[in-house]
Amino acid sequence: MDCSGDIGTGRQASRSSLSAPGRHGSLDVVGLKSAIARSVESDYPKLDALYKDIHAHPEIAFQEEKTAAKLAAEMRALGFEVTEHVGKTGLVAIYKNGDGPTIMVRTELDALPMEEKTGLAYASHDKTVWQGRETFVAHSCGHDIHMASWVGTARTLVGLKDQWRGTLMFIAQPAEEIVAAAKAMLADGLFTRFPKPDFGFALHANGAVAHDTVLYHVGSLPRMPTASTSNSAAAAGTARRLRQPSTP
Ligand SMILES: [Zn+2]
Repeated sequence: MDCSGDIGTGRQASRSSLSAPGRHGSLDVVGLKSAIARSVESDYPKLDALYKDIHAHPEIAFQEEKTAAKLAAEMRALGFEVTEHVGKTGLVAIYKNGDGPTIMVRTELDALPMEEKTGLAYASHDKTVWQGRETFVAHSCGHDIHMASWVGTARTLVGLKDQWRGTLMFIAQPAEEIVAAAKAMLADGLFTRFPKPDFGFALHANGAVAHDTVLYHVGSLPRMPTASTSNSAAAAGTARRLRQPSTP
């Protein structure tokens, strides 16, 4: 399965790309760390429920109508202006908060044509028709985690809107597993009907690395990326380079 269908702007991300209000410089992410942690903590039960709902009801490439509708409702409730059906089942959600850069944050929407055998209380039992045959559907690639994190990121940024200026451009990309909707969204005017972002961010869960470890990579992601790890040791300034296998 391929998860390399990122939509990039070809420009490098920076560690603090949102402007701070009333002065030159960047959003003080370090100074806001405890406020961000409190926001995530208080939102967590809702985000966990959203994750489990999406996990239990997966939809396959270009069939993500209900999933997209759930995300659209979440973003409208936060005050985003949401455009649906961009590149068939995709979403673009815009939140304007004064002068500043445009920041794009992307999630995928689609699941995979396979049976879930985890036995979890919220396991998927759904079926669909894929390429003319009935199949089970499961979120085996972690896009359910990405969607809940995407909504959580939006909630946190909107909750801290007094601390930054700029435009948020949250996009939900369909059909990532068949590497089809990045082109579909671009052809449907992603960067002409909507602002062209100054920076773009995307997340991918990876079961191959230890819990509580964050890998990051600046620039477009190759199939066999060299990534930097940011765990507790890296936080102390000892980030090291490592080889990272391709995501599933
Ligand atoms: Zn994926």
